[in-house]
Amino acid sequence: MPGVDFNRVRTEITMEQVLRLLGFQPTNRSGAQWYGSCPLHKSSPMHRGRRRSFSVNVAIGRYFCHGCRSHGNQLELWAAATKQPMHQAAIDLCHRLGRHIPWISRW
Ligand SMILES: [Zn+2]
Repeated sequence: MPGVDFNRVRTEITMEQVLRLLGFQPTNRSGAQWYGSCPLHKSSPMHRGRRRSFSVNVAIGRYFCHGCRSHGNQLELWAAATKQPMHQAAIDLCHRLGRHIPWISRW
């Protein structure tokens, strides 16, 4: 299977689009910095008060979770949320958003 140009996927698909697909609802916003409950780990009802565990910067496309320590860019977030390897996650993400997959042709 040919490779996928991850850089192109990251420039064409924004962090906001990935968050929308995951149904993420920010509980707090400070400019491009959004906070909310983590779409990757289920927080127990006991910890529901700690709503700021997940923070994401939609301008630079980076997220970090203080709860499960997961972090990365929008593609890594999609891969982690859907439990797929990066290559598969990139293809899946392009399909869901109706994008062309930026295959890397080596020849
Ligand atoms: Zn988390």
